[in-house]
Amino acid sequence: MPFRCASCNLTFESAEEFMAHKQNHQASVDKKPDTSGLTCLKCGTPVPLSAAQANYRGAITCITCGQRMQVRMEDGEVVFAVASRD
Ligand SMILES: [Zn+2]
Ligand SMILES: [Zn+2]
Repeated sequence: MPFRCASCNLTFESAEEFMAHKQNHQASVDKKPDTSGLTCLKCGTPVPLSAAQANYRGAITCITCGQRMQVRMEDGEVVFAVASRD
């Protein structure tokens, strides 16, 4: 009988796999859901976006490294992002 995760209903053949999977769940419990998917293209830091920017199109500057990016957001999701070089 395989191991079954109660949270997401995935099944696992071994206890090791199952335990590793459960740890994934626990690691994500403490994190806030990453709804604003924009991360800096240069340093990888999440770039905070306000609710007003859920449908934003234009330039965003990373507050960590100063990298400027041209982004396009739709419903809070990044549909386009490119580093600008000026
Ligand atoms: Zn699971
Ligand atoms: Zn950055």
